[in-house]
Amino acid sequence: MRIGIGWDSHPLAAGRPLILGGVSIAHARGLLGVSDADALLHAVIDAMLGAAALGDIGQHFPESDPAMRGISSLLLLQRAQELIHAAGWRIGNIDSVIIAEQPRLAPYIPAMREQIAQALGLSLSRISIKAKTAEGLDSVGQGRAIQAQAVALLEEMP
Ligand code: MG
Repeated sequence: MRIGIGWDSHPLAAGRPLILGGVSIAHARGLLGVSDADALLHAVIDAMLGAAALGDIGQHFPESDPAMRGISSLLLLQRAQELIHAAGWRIGNIDSVIIAEQPRLAPYIPAMREQIAQALGLSLSRISIKAKTAEGLDSVGQGRAIQAQAVALLEEMP
């Protein structure tokens, strides 16, 4: 088995859709980035790549690539899974945390788990997502950014 860690942070900006875990969330502001800026999926991708020692998201999906503009991070998640499969690994489980002051994310977590499980062809029981606030502290707590952390356990393919 191998374990990997991932972390991501994106600023919140007006006029952007808020997409986390592949789910569109009703909110006045969204995450700023070249792709859909889905911080949760970016953290998950880095955890998967990290567990297989395959580098990081920026290396495989560079922001300088015009094809990355506005791309759904669910597609990047699937491509990352193809990379780890090609290296002889499959996902055991993923655990993650989203840190956001607003909006309240708990109602969206079941849909996020569904999206990730479906994109990866895994059972829901292998995908965990928690949501926390930063208790008013730092840029996340002041509502200027959203962060995500993830770990992924990979198992060697039989
Ligand atoms: Mg990112």
